[in-house]
Amino acid sequence: MGFPMNQERQRRTKPLPIRTCIVCREKNSKRALIRLVRTGQGIQVDPSGKLEGRGAYLCDRESCWDRALSGDLLGRALRVSLTAEDRERLKQAKPQP
Ligand SMILES: [Zn+2]
Repeated sequence: MGFPMNQERQRRTKPLPIRTCIVCREKNSKRALIRLVRTGQGIQVDPSGKLEGRGAYLCDRESCWDRALSGDLLGRALRVSLTAEDRERLKQAKPQP
């Protein structure tokens, strides 16, 4: 694996991309939110923000992760049913306070 060395596409003239946490609906800069992506291997956390696929954003609040994982919010956002495996993987990825 290693670190992705993709070229930076940021432009100084562009405003920061804003994303919305799917649970609390709070808007924040893309970098402050955690991107989850639906991939062929299930739902993955995408720290690089560059994975292909349908994505959803969560803020770093534990309560948002709990709600996203316990209900069907995340599944609805990604248009997929979360498997037990997905929930388990995402629980591991949950930001620690
Ligand atoms: Zn949130």
